[in-house]
Amino acid sequence: MNIAIIGPNCAGKTTCAKRIAKEFGLLRFSLGQMIKDSIRNHTLLGLMAHPYVTRGNFVPDEVANAALEEKVSANTEARGFVFDGFPCTLYQAVYMIDLLHRHSMNLNGVIFMKVSPDTTFERAFARKSTDEQIEKTPESIAVRINNYKNVAESILRLFAHSTSFLAIDTENPSESVYDEVRAFIKGVENNTFVPPPVDAIEKEIDQFLASYRLTEKTPVSCPLNLVIMGPPGCGKGTHSAFLSEYLSVPTLSTGNLFREHLKDKTPLGAIAGAFINKGRLVPDDVTAAIVKKRLNESDAMHGFILDGFPRTVPQADALDIILTASSRTLDGVIYLNVSDEEILFRTAGRRFCPKCQSTYHIQYNKPAKEGICDKDGTKLIIREDDKEETVKDRLQAYRRQTLPVIEHYRQRGLLQEIIANAEVDVVRNRMFESTRSIIRRKHREPLNMK
Ligand SMILES: [Zn+2]
Repeated sequence: MNIAIIGPNCAGKTTCAKRIAKEFGLLRFSLGQMIKDSIRNHTLLGLMAHPYVTRGNFVPDEVANAALEEKVSANTEARGFVFDGFPCTLYQAVYMIDLLHRHSMNLNGVIFMKVSPDTTFERAFARKSTDEQIEKTPESIAVRINNYKNVAESILRLFAHSTSFLAIDTENPSESVYDEVRAFIKGVENNTFVPPPVDAIEKEIDQFLASYRLTEKTPVSCPLNLVIMGPPGCGKGTHSAFLSEYLSVPTLSTGNLFREHLKDKTPLGAIAGAFINKGRLVPDDVTAAIVKKRLNESDAMHGFILDGFPRTVPQADALDIILTASSRTLDGVIYLNVSDEEILFRTAGRRFCPKCQSTYHIQYNKPAKEGICDKDGTKLIIREDDKEETVKDRLQAYRRQTLPVIEHYRQRGLLQEIIANAEVDVVRNRMFESTRSIIRRKHREPLNMK
């Protein structure tokens, strides 16, 4: 007999799995425990898994499935298994069912232990941490909760339709929870379990998914994954810096990333450089590789603002693939829309010191003496980049290339368009308001943000 216990973090799966293993003579498989042991013992599995678990992310399916296969294949004589917190993803579920079939076994029952995100938070920090190897922060717990939300639906529906399924609320744990579990397993073992109507299970799953969200009780800044877009000269640099500070997440600008890769002479920098030096556009897959590398660094795992990517629809698709591979989703796109006239007006006033590279503006940032650098007295010039014809060409190229991306995100309901023909403070406030609405949509309830 084989039983799987699934559900969010801190639902009480392990306590239950240990009792089941003892009472019914089953072998407990815990991927979490295997990973903790492997990290402690510095095995290959531990080395592979460590960067994922410290960020609150799932280990890749291949790693999880390899660990499962090792355990099951080495214990084919066992009376059966209780899978503790496994499978986590649909792919793991399908792999597990195949693996059991190969060993002439079945998955006989699935116990789904329900608990709310707020309770997960409470329990995660009330628990005396025995696994000091795995860093636990409010952010990594929030990431875990969001990751769970992304994968829960398909796996729940799969099991609700394919095996004996018990959904059980562990919000208020008591002995009766285990009594229910015991009765279920005995019923599965004796073939006397009478499943509730599928409609009723579906409804219970719907209710769980609809209510599975962080609330304002959650003591965490919200890890948002954002893209910021806008025509050249719209003030994206200034506003992404505001947003970065507001959300405590890094801004990843492809311009800076290219410069760093070129300067550090990395392999990706060499490929990109070969195109740039010939005056050609860097191909989408090269840019995507550079962005992927940066998005998978640890600071970006708790949210980011991406600037300069995606510029094309294929790049937007590439971004989805990069994020999905690490159980993340794009939460919103901030679009700073400034008219061409306004941008031409703004850039026409820019002045530049060729000696110390300081920038001025004849209206917004005047030098003390007209046409002269404050720092070194050099005569200010208009940069080639700021000349009207150059700006017009750049705007045209931008609109042609990027409008499809903006439409793509608008259709997906991710776009927050901000009319940015206004003073910096006004635009900033509009942008923060849009960001709060993205947070509300992601977590339903407003968080306590100033
Ligand atoms: Zn100067």
